Amino acid sequence: MKITKIDRCNVYTCISGLMPPFQLVVYFYNADGLLIDAGSANILKEASLILKNETIKMVALTHVHEDHTGMAHWLQKEKNIPIYIHKNSINEASQNSNIPLYRRVVWGNRRGFHAQPIPEVLQTEHYTFDVFDAPGHHPYHIVLHEKNMGWLFTGDLFVSIRQLVAFKDENITDTIVSLQKLLSLDFDIVFCGHSGVHKNGKEKMKKKLEYFMDIQSKVKALKEKGFSIEEIDTKLFPKKNLWTIVSGGEWSSRNIVKTVY
Ligand SMILES: [Zn+2]
Repeated sequence: MKITKIDRCNVYTCISGLMPPFQLVVYFYNADGLLIDAGSANILKEASLILKNETIKMVALTHVHEDHTGMAHWLQKEKNIPIYIHKNSINEASQNSNIPLYRRVVWGNRRGFHAQPIPEVLQTEHYTFDVFDAPGHHPYHIVLHEKNMGWLFTGDLFVSIRQLVAFKDENITDTIVSLQKLLSLDFDIVFCGHSGVHKNGKEKMKKKLEYFMDIQSKVKALKEKGFSIEEIDTKLFPKKNLWTIVSGGEWSSRNIVKTVY
């Protein structure tokens, strides 16, 4: 695990996955004692050696997916600290996850833990984080905004500008609304769960919004001409993504077309 530093925020970077090509990068953050997201279970062995010596006073989870909650059980046991998540995910978080094989190989199953509803504001010694609902990638996804620093911790809401596949939990119409809402906030730096720290993050989020609005208008036009979801999917995304095959369709461009309009 690699650690870099931005002001009072430690940036943790880890490769999760048992072997290539089933490996992905996971980023999580320790902003002045507030751990934002808790990585995957598959990095626990490596990450725990470092995290046990880090000052962590509380944990905020952007959403319940196993690559953001994988070490929460260990953190609770080791550090005895509060763990916050969206109130509608507390029940799911309390149970061990039961995910398909390809996700077990990359991330591993999460062990259940006791979370509390995330408050509207989280305060550390030097920072104040405003918590905003930001559904899209997941219905109960939150983001954290530190307005004095111009920071936005976006979990999996951003990831990349040109998103080619969406997860089965995603709703792109919600993503569009969330992006529009968040772009009214004051920030420059985006801290993402899989693509790391983006210095001109607000600009990139604007481009993502434009990308999805363009797809939305194309889907709308094709639907009005009578094309089916499948036909529109083939027209707009002619190349089948490897992850669509590996995931048995959990990740697909069809999920974008189905939910964007
Ligand atoms: Zn996710």
